[in-house]
Amino acid sequence: MKINFNQLDRFYIKHRFEILYHFHKTMRIGNFILGSEVKSFESEFANYIGSQFCVGLNSGLDALILALRALDVSEGDEVIVPANTYIATILAITENKATPVLVEPDNEYNINPDKIEEKITSKTKAIIVVHLYGQSAKMDKISSIAKKHKLFLIEDCAQSHGATYNGKMTGTFGDIGCFSFYPTKNIGAYGDGGCIVTNNSLLFDRIKLLRNYGSSKKYYNDIQGLNTRLDEIQATFLRIKLKYYKKNLANRIKIANYYLKNINNPLIKLPKTQSNSNHVYHLFVVECKQREKLIQFLNDKRIGTVIHYPVPPHLSKAYENLGYKKGDYPITEAYADNLLSLPLYDYMTFKEVKYVVNALNKFMK
Ligand SMILES: *Cc1c(COP(=O)(O)O)cnc(C)c1O
Repeated sequence: MKINFNQLDRFYIKHRFEILYHFHKTMRIGNFILGSEVKSFESEFANYIGSQFCVGLNSGLDALILALRALDVSEGDEVIVPANTYIATILAITENKATPVLVEPDNEYNINPDKIEEKITSKTKAIIVVHLYGQSAKMDKISSIAKKHKLFLIEDCAQSHGATYNGKMTGTFGDIGCFSFYPTKNIGAYGDGGCIVTNNSLLFDRIKLLRNYGSSKKYYNDIQGLNTRLDEIQATFLRIKLKYYKKNLANRIKIANYYLKNINNPLIKLPKTQSNSNHVYHLFVVECKQREKLIQFLNDKRIGTVIHYPVPPHLSKAYENLGYKKGDYPITEAYADNLLSLPLYDYMTFKEVKYVVNALNKFMK
């Protein structure tokens, strides 16, 4: 059996008639930018998240960039952010000429709330949390720190569509929630896409302007904006993805629970889950000290794996200018050395899941 890390064609194969029908409809309407599909998706997604407003954007990175811009975070400002994240979270800060201030992760791979306050200075303007791999950060503590120090709170929900903490959806704790619809994400387009959600009507209006040249009326420009709109064709696909998401998410969780229950190899450490949150398993990430050997072992059995992420942002070549060195964030660096993501995707069969479990349980030093 061959098991790819991901299998993005499965959804298409299963739902192709519905996808093609709606694609055809959008093609026939012939309006490809900011039409009825984007509007409908925005309202359906806001409804799913339980947020008042949603703005469809071109990508998750653009969502983070516009969130900071809408809050006037700029040169001279500091933004607190997890050291253990995908580099896009940090890029959004430096793109706005602000300074990222990195905080080490906890045992669930998210920002450690007990290490945030020591990093707050008079220049701190915002905290960005990331709900990494699909599990919410500890939002009770983080929200109260943000409130106490009067800091903006932005959530990077690129991996946490539908994840909750104490029964509340990620994306609704802060001022702005940022989502990605990159094809591999839990809700993925067939191309790039993203959005922000917010309950603040001023931020909603501002981000709508920013995504569309700073213009609300064609050829009249109120502010200096960008072009970063979700397009009609991607919105068409995303509406279908969203429609099936509850069911597909339940299945994703079922597979993850099967992994948790049946992988029993002392060399492989399983992800820790918080009892007061629901993990949406964007990625099923295990820890293994013999990672290279494990990758090779699984590869020989035709099982694909991916490392999320091999180089932490502070050690990436792109951020040489920040002057970090190896050893500055030892917990983050150890994760980068030992973590490995297992195959987990929509319409993965239990035959495939069992094959992966069997292989993992046979792995030896
Ligand atoms: C994917 C991702 C992003 C960026 O989203 P894009 O749509 O690819 O720009 C940002 N943050 C995190 C944590 C991500 O996983």
